[in-house]
Amino acid sequence: DNLSIIDVKQSVNKIITIYTMKADKQNITFQTHIEEDVYITGNASRFERMIINLINNAIEAIQEEGTIEIRIVKEHKHVYISIIDSGPGIDPDQLEQIFYPFYTTKDEGTGIGLPICKTIVETLNGTMDITNHPTKGVHVKMKIPYSEHAT
Ligand code: ADP
Ligand code: MG
Repeated sequence: DNLSIIDVKQSVNKIITIYTMKADKQNITFQTHIEEDVYITGNASRFERMIINLINNAIEAIQEEGTIEIRIVKEHKHVYISIIDSGPGIDPDQLEQIFYPFYTTKDEGTGIGLPICKTIVETLNGTMDITNHPTKGVHVKMKIPYSEHAT
């Protein structure tokens, strides 16, 4: 269903540009380290929806001011995507529950963002891990098979 080669740098930079423009009340800085020529195969709009969901969670966690670090590297046939925010992190007792549908700690949360993200990354034959970063907030790690770019 609409599989194509996704230029990961281009997709993620597009999303960051939109968020940088609409950063209104919050003072959020993006710090990026994104390698060139990183490609995966999948549904581009779903991939982008997943990144948007994760950035929204980071923004909601940060609340007023902070940083969102995005690192994308290619290594041994896999693409590694990291999103690290400077929010308060997740209570270690709750880490197991964040992927359960409808689990939310927000007054107006739906609790379906992360279950959807996990499904999307699995359709890319990848994995997603969420932990607390040792010194910052939450660290989302994804590992997705790399695709050669057909030129
Ligand atoms: P929602 O955003 O609607 O609450 P999600 O499935 O996206 O649903 O996230 C579930 C819960 O996981 C959130 O309510 C929040 O408690 C926790 N969470 C997710 N991402 C973060 C984050 N970056 N920092 C802190 N908590 C987070
Ligand atoms: Mg969410």
